[in-house]
Amino acid sequence: MDLEGFENLLAQEPKYRLVQAKKALFQDLIENWNQAVALPLSLRERLDKECPLEITAKTFVAQDTVKALLTLEDGLKIETVLMRHGSTGSPQATRNTVCVSSQVGCPLGCSFCATGRMGFKRNLGSPEIVAQVLFFARYLKKLKEKVTNIVFMGMGEPFLNYQNVIGAIRTLNDPTGFHSGARHFSISTVGIAEGGIAELAKEKLQINLAVSLHAPNDELRSQIMKINEKYSIRRVLDAVDDYIKKTKRRVMFEYIMIKDVNDSAKEAEELAKLMKKPLYFVNLISYNQTGIFKPSSPAKIKRFKEILEQAGVAVTQRYRFGREVEGACGQLATGDKIDTA
Ligand code: SAH
Ligand code: SF4
Repeated sequence: MDLEGFENLLAQEPKYRLVQAKKALFQDLIENWNQAVALPLSLRERLDKECPLEITAKTFVAQDTVKALLTLEDGLKIETVLMRHGSTGSPQATRNTVCVSSQVGCPLGCSFCATGRMGFKRNLGSPEIVAQVLFFARYLKKLKEKVTNIVFMGMGEPFLNYQNVIGAIRTLNDPTGFHSGARHFSISTVGIAEGGIAELAKEKLQINLAVSLHAPNDELRSQIMKINEKYSIRRVLDAVDDYIKKTKRRVMFEYIMIKDVNDSAKEAEELAKLMKKPLYFVNLISYNQTGIFKPSSPAKIKRFKEILEQAGVAVTQRYRFGREVEGACGQLATGDKIDTA
């Protein structure tokens, strides 16, 4: 798919043509320009030749999770995951969350993360990020459903690709295009302060921020997340506090529960001390085993959660989505594994 060229091509046409093209692409969710019936045939033919809309992908479906393996123009592959919560026809509204990748691989190499072990290939361009969402918007259209939430929790560190991530959000947020409300986006970061959290604090965008903490002290955090040597817990929390001061928005702290690594009562108490702030909340995430570590037992997670609650910390729990398709949000399989999936 080539989204880059289509606006340039249409710049030579009367203004309303771009409006029609954007409606066709982002609202009618056409899969090739011939379906954009509002446009004259000659224009459709040019667009089809110069800015093709096909997205090459393989899908793997398991219960409420769908994993798409997208092939990029240069042959590299990325994963995007759709998580469906609440089934169709149930009284509670269906939520369809798309978990997008921001990079091919990741340079940060956190020891528990499959993407980290792949190494880093390159940043994704804005259109490549947008394409991931369009892929599932088209998929859901066939089921008469819509994408409701977009989370940057796939491969890569979004704040190492800040401009393209924000560019994609602006495109998807555009009222004349896809028009997904800002509140429906979430960015997860290890805590890149300069050029990341600090930058986001300045944007006039009401998107959600999530921070991967995973340990309550620097010694442990540095062991599992090398980036902590640069962005220590104090530095991350200072950036978050400044962000909250500017935006008045809640911030989620992600904490994956890894057996005998970060799940003791002592660690829960230490974490409680850091997290007892009005707009902070902790999300305990079951670890999806992708390497040497193992997930904490449900009893351990329950105890950990109770300690936080008793200390007055806001805490939620997320279950592992998509174990069946070898990975989901933030727990994506390595390239080799993908090919055999
Ligand atoms: N690079 C960003 C965003 C992508 S990862 C970040 O690290 O925040 C999204 C989330 O999934 C992070 O909280 C990450 O720590 C978590 N994650 C990574 N591997 C995981 C695994 N095997 N099981 C569960 N969560 C995992
Ligand atoms: Fe990169 Fe996030 Fe994985 Fe760490 S957890 S290696 S930052 S994708």
